[in-house]
Amino acid sequence: MPREYTLHTAAHAAPRIDYKAELNEQQYAAVTAPPGQTLVIAGAGSGKTRTLTYRVAWLLDNGVLPDQILLLTFTNKAAREMLERVTSLVPLDTQRLWSGTFHSIGNKLLRWNAERLGYRKGFSIMDREDQKDLMETVISSSGIDTAGFRFPKAEVIGDIFSMADNTCMRLEEIILTRYPYFEKIADQIIRIRKLYQDKKVETNCMDFDDLLSQSLRLLKENEDLQERYRSQFEFVLVDEYQDTNSLQCQFIEMLTGRDGNLMVVGDDAQSIYSWRGADVKNILEFHDYWPRATVHKIEVNYRSVPEVLELANASIANNRAQIRKNLLPARPLKGQLPALVPLDNGSAQASFIAQRILELQDEGVELNEIAVLYRAHFHSMEIQMELTNRGIPFQITSGLRFFEQAHVKDVAAFMKFAVNRRDEVSFMRMVKLIPGIGGASATKVWNEWLKTEASQSEVMTGKFSDLLIPMSVPKKARETWDQFAYTLDELIVDGKVATPPEMIRSIYDGVYEEYMKSKFKNAEQRQQDLEQLSNYSVRFTDPLEFLSQLSLLSGVDTDNKPDQQAQDRDAVTLTTAHQAKGLEWHTVFAVWMADGMFPHARAIEESDAGLEEERRLFYVTVTRAKDELYLTYPLINHQARDGDILMKPSRFITEVPMELMEKWNVRSGW
Ligand code: ATP
Ligand code: MG
Repeated sequence: MPREYTLHTAAHAAPRIDYKAELNEQQYAAVTAPPGQTLVIAGAGSGKTRTLTYRVAWLLDNGVLPDQILLLTFTNKAAREMLERVTSLVPLDTQRLWSGTFHSIGNKLLRWNAERLGYRKGFSIMDREDQKDLMETVISSSGIDTAGFRFPKAEVIGDIFSMADNTCMRLEEIILTRYPYFEKIADQIIRIRKLYQDKKVETNCMDFDDLLSQSLRLLKENEDLQERYRSQFEFVLVDEYQDTNSLQCQFIEMLTGRDGNLMVVGDDAQSIYSWRGADVKNILEFHDYWPRATVHKIEVNYRSVPEVLELANASIANNRAQIRKNLLPARPLKGQLPALVPLDNGSAQASFIAQRILELQDEGVELNEIAVLYRAHFHSMEIQMELTNRGIPFQITSGLRFFEQAHVKDVAAFMKFAVNRRDEVSFMRMVKLIPGIGGASATKVWNEWLKTEASQSEVMTGKFSDLLIPMSVPKKARETWDQFAYTLDELIVDGKVATPPEMIRSIYDGVYEEYMKSKFKNAEQRQQDLEQLSNYSVRFTDPLEFLSQLSLLSGVDTDNKPDQQAQDRDAVTLTTAHQAKGLEWHTVFAVWMADGMFPHARAIEESDAGLEEERRLFYVTVTRAKDELYLTYPLINHQARDGDILMKPSRFITEVPMELMEKWNVRSGW
């Protein structure tokens, strides 16, 4: 007789998590909510992200399959951290769960279905610089007289298009409301947009906004896909909902449908991206839009000591446009107030921070539990230097990032072109590295190239060294040119593109090493970077995947470094307040807390709305601290051009009662 054997789904396995014990009542209600729409709106540190994490675990515990869940987060890092947390709760194959930023999910959908939009699977993703280059080409070939009227630069045009994409508004409307001084040339701008869009299809390139707007279009125009993804993503969850824009909301709805299972969490007091088209109304009016939604509010803060929380509450109370909420602390008093620390100047500020970090370390606080937060990237320069001098390891997640550096982009240009042989921007970047080749000869070669069959077909046929006929190449560049063409040959083996590390090696050995040595003073440092890039690339076998990853990392998300281990090692974090959203540290140093720095001078001159957004950013900054908070500012700002400028403490500090802080008098000593 055959033996009877039953396979159990996860739902039947004994639950390991004591949901009731690990969550408060509101969190528990949200985590175990029945299917449908759910909103959790609550202040900072109240466990919104924790709620989402447990919700994922709960769904899995109840037999939902990982690939039926779509988890949208603000950064890739956040997605990774949440997945780690979920796996510690429920064993699962995280590969199967769909999670990441809107852009990365959009990219995934497009890779599979690009043909439906007239693109090819191997499309390139342009970053801001590539986009600017392409826009310049479009503008200059448009025949529009850009000299007559002070015509906006390519970057500004890019911003206008981006705003239109993200807010889903008509271009005319964006120009009238946000850029009224360009009203006179609105028609030209509209024409350029059309040319730019055509050019992107022609060169098989997408910009960042396309990853979302084209995904939306893809779903709108293809009902079969809409149905397919809708039935796949049984549960959609979104963190930081207060910073979503109209495009993202439409994308979400396209995936859930009007009756879908959608859970969003957020805090209106932390909406800080209106300058990028985010609209806080999405969360404030969520219930109007989804009338059957259940709403959960959490009024307890688990993150910060009461002293820090009190300062945060007092500050945000100054905003008129807000839902009043007073967060109550779950933690006991610490007996130490947030420190207000004026310092002589920027370098004294840097010394203070470095010294305090070392002391904290002695007290047993780990370096990755410490962050230095600032309003603008350049505020970090002196601190970077001081930490370097004292040998304190730090990781920086603002400003020029690894993947945006010229040498990394140069190497990537070769790879992009090998994969997408219609990528004009990469081609231009690549050939212009050859001494003696400028824009004009590069364009000529490009036009020759476009006439070849290889440039038009999906599979590479023939050899670059035979096809890229250097007729238009000046004599003195010939030798390097040949070397360059042979290098390209090496990137494609038997009609197939080589693996990323093989490609990087060929490019480096074939042409780039020599170029780099003649071009850059710090060639050695750059060589190490490229080695690191090559190490990083080993985990990818598909160059397309590698290149997508590269573009995604250098674009919206600044929270990634090539080497995961380097990121996890013990180091202080230096980052902008914007990038710090959702994160927490034992100790936070908020630096340059002077008026005109934070709030930003522009926001002071602008409307109240601008200042209120800055105050929300201040609220985000303060609420990152779990135990200790230092607000520091230099009394004098030494400026090479303007001499010494006297600084005043930020109005966000002077407008709250002084007794909420402890002032430190710092003197130089021995
Ligand atoms: P933010 O608004 O900054 O994004 P958040 O509301 O998402 O914050 P979380 O990051 O989820 O808050 O939680 C803040 C901290 O409080 C985390 O360390 C979390 O583990 C802890 N926490 C949240 N809820 C509870 C709870 N019920 N019991 C114990 N700790 C909790
Ligand atoms: Mg959060």
